Amino acid sequence: MTRRNARTSASVLAGDTTTTTSSPASAITPPSTFTDGLPLPKKIVFDLDYTLWNCWCDTHVTPPIKRTVDGLTITDRRGSSFGFYPDVAGVLSSIKYQGIILGAASRTHTPELAREMLSLLKVPGTEAKSALSMFDHLEIYPGSKVTHFEKLKKKSGVEHSEVLFFDDESRNRNVENLGVVMYLVRDGVSREEVDAGVRLWRERKGRTKREAGTDEQLKTEMQQRSASFEYQPASRHLIRAL
Ligand SMILES: [Mg+2]
Repeated sequence: MTRRNARTSASVLAGDTTTTTSSPASAITPPSTFTDGLPLPKKIVFDLDYTLWNCWCDTHVTPPIKRTVDGLTITDRRGSSFGFYPDVAGVLSSIKYQGIILGAASRTHTPELAREMLSLLKVPGTEAKSALSMFDHLEIYPGSKVTHFEKLKKKSGVEHSEVLFFDDESRNRNVENLGVVMYLVRDGVSREEVDAGVRLWRERKGRTKREAGTDEQLKTEMQQRSASFEYQPASRHLIRAL
């Protein structure tokens, strides 16, 4: 079955939850590129549909929606279930712990529904009240993602060259004209896909070597963060790795 066929398959519409996250963030090893001492982008942005979660929310999800007891999935009016891919909890937690700005850029036709899904879904293993609260910036509306990224730059002040973007649709590669690096996700975000994306960003930007001050700066930032970081339970081993 091709991926596109899988998107409209009965298993998705019937609420197959086998692809959604259930492990706490602490059980998921952070991406290896986050601890190798090499440069990291200042901002990571994710598409939502078929990048972070297993549906097109404007096609497969029928409101009203509600959170399941554990908060790991939502169910819609037809009883179908949807949630994040298995590694997403660990990935989001690791990004926050590294102090990388976290953004979302979606062109869904149901922005309010997407926001509601983010507000209902929890990220297991973190103290975040919802996935929504983990994001620094959200740009969710139809149209070219060039607009989304121009607005993200205005909000964060981070140059496009410092941004890594994960998306499952190649048509959104047009954001690379801005200087953003996009990594094409094949079957939802995973730890391995994040590592591949970071390596691609390093190669494209000529940032494949250790940079002066990177280790000390990283250690200082992480130690400061460890004192107040609400996702600490997921990431203590990052400190030990330094
Ligand atoms: Mg998508």
